[in-house]
Amino acid sequence: MNRRNFFRRLAAIPVLPVLWRQLPIPAQASATLASPSARRVRPSDSSWPNAESWEKLKQDVGGNLVKVESPLVACESASDSASCQEVIKNLRNPYFIGDQAGGTQTSGWVDAWTSAPSVYAVAARNAADVVAAINFARENNLRLVVKGGGHSYQGTSNAADSLLIWTRAMNNITVHDTFVAQGCAGSQAPQPAVTVEAGAMWIDTYNAVTTKAGRYVQGGGCTTVGVAGLIQSGGFGSFSKKYGMAAAALLEAEVVTADGALRTANARTNPDLFWAIKGGGGGSLGVVTKLTLRTHELPAFFGGVFANITATSDAAFRRLIGQFISFYKDSLFNPDWGEIVAFRPDNTLAISMVFQGFDKQQAEKVWQPFFDWVRGSPVGLTIESAPTIVSLPARNFWNAEDLSKKAPGMVFTDDRPGAADTHMWWASNQGEVGFYLHGYESAWLPASLLEKDGQERLMNALFAASRHWKVSLHFNKGLAGAPTDAVAAARDTAMNPAVVDAFALAIIAGSGPRHIRVFLASRI
Ligand SMILES: Cc1cc2nc3c(=O)[nH]c(=O)nc-3n(C[C@H](O)[C@H](O)[C@H](O)COP(=O)(O)OP(=O)(O)OC[C@H]3O[C@@H](n4cnc5c(N)ncnc54)[C@H](O)[C@@H]3O)c2cc1C
Repeated sequence: MNRRNFFRRLAAIPVLPVLWRQLPIPAQASATLASPSARRVRPSDSSWPNAESWEKLKQDVGGNLVKVESPLVACESASDSASCQEVIKNLRNPYFIGDQAGGTQTSGWVDAWTSAPSVYAVAARNAADVVAAINFARENNLRLVVKGGGHSYQGTSNAADSLLIWTRAMNNITVHDTFVAQGCAGSQAPQPAVTVEAGAMWIDTYNAVTTKAGRYVQGGGCTTVGVAGLIQSGGFGSFSKKYGMAAAALLEAEVVTADGALRTANARTNPDLFWAIKGGGGGSLGVVTKLTLRTHELPAFFGGVFANITATSDAAFRRLIGQFISFYKDSLFNPDWGEIVAFRPDNTLAISMVFQGFDKQQAEKVWQPFFDWVRGSPVGLTIESAPTIVSLPARNFWNAEDLSKKAPGMVFTDDRPGAADTHMWWASNQGEVGFYLHGYESAWLPASLLEKDGQERLMNALFAASRHWKVSLHFNKGLAGAPTDAVAAARDTAMNPAVVDAFALAIIAGSGPRHIRVFLASRI
């Protein structure tokens, strides 16, 4: 399947059960979509379902219909009250936010959206609850929104005046030694895999697959991102340069489409839907209830390299950028290296790279020429903090207990009473917890920029951009340099094909902490 064929076939299907952004599309979809006056029923409308109807839905979903409030409701009357202060403290914990039906990990985006709670949520326990919620929304012409991990940047997992399908409680995970997708016996060899329900976070998946079972599954870097949302977004983690895009590892999905049908999607059954789920955008095609992903052999080690190098002049910074690009091309442009370097307006190169497969000495050897060059540079470069190179058994990479002991500054754990002791998040993600976006731009950088005649252009562009704002290159979010099978698998997804020619994704973003005034303004 390729994008052109998919859209051709989509156009040929009169009634594809599509679930477009927050809108349940009924069977007479084509007419509704064409009509600019299409409008969902809001609580202020007389056709809003009455109490009896809601009660009936509640019974249909085993009692799991909840009234939704913003997590900050305690602050509405008094922002200095103890309960408000407690909530504000908790809003620095991504697991707390995820546990709130009305919580979102991004709290808004200037001039775009502000997090707003739904009216009701079906706290789904299983696919039947999802079917009931979709049917109810369709029959009553309600706004419908789906939330898993709640990490949407675009605000697509929250909507005022809506019914929410909240998958948080659907988090079972089953590891398989020999999985064959339904109807694929004979065409697909049995392979190790993991089946994950839609509300699971990556940390739960890593705990089951890596910490417990000693295997690797490609997921996200941020541990609290939802599995279903990330797979539908394409999905990259620290080691994607080796294992590819997360969506490309999808073997099978179970999906409830807007007509309320529970469908299996894999290479043989509903192959169009299967292809489109792989990176086609969360909430676009239906509500995914579970996913099965290929797993890989785990390497011996995972590790990281961290350093900050500051130049004392613009000229020295340009040289540093140029030298790093050349070093990256010669030594790091391969499946072993991922994550980030940032070029900052204060002429600092901030290195925060990860690797797979090397012990500490091997990683040091890779970087030695670069740090030797910096130390020997005749002009104006200072290594702000001595380079830190760490390597640990890969099986412990997401082991909260081990990391808290060995690298206490690198992780935080959910310290609420009764919280799972496996629930940790990287300190480097703390700034994103509940953040409010001021701007967020990204661009895939083609690998041709690493060729000799492209490097100077790239250096000039990075230097010029860094005069305005911090520019980060996320090497694991571009697949140039990845193994051919990872590239081929990514091509067979709905993701923008530019990903396979890019050596990195450049991100320029600005954000601040969620401001209580933003919340209060949205309530007035
Ligand atoms: C702090 C932060 C860190 C991030 N880190 C990474 C990273 O390391 N790697 C990466 O690739 N991306 C990352 N992202 C982006 C993230 O993968 C996407 O935003 C992803 O869509 C989030 O999924 P979610 O389930 O957590 O979010 P949600 O907001 O719950 O869902 C995202 C979208 O998917 C839809 N959706 C959710 N569940 C379902 C379902 N079961 N069926 C159908 N639709 C569904 C929602 O309606 C919404 O449109 C990050 C985002 C943030 C805010």
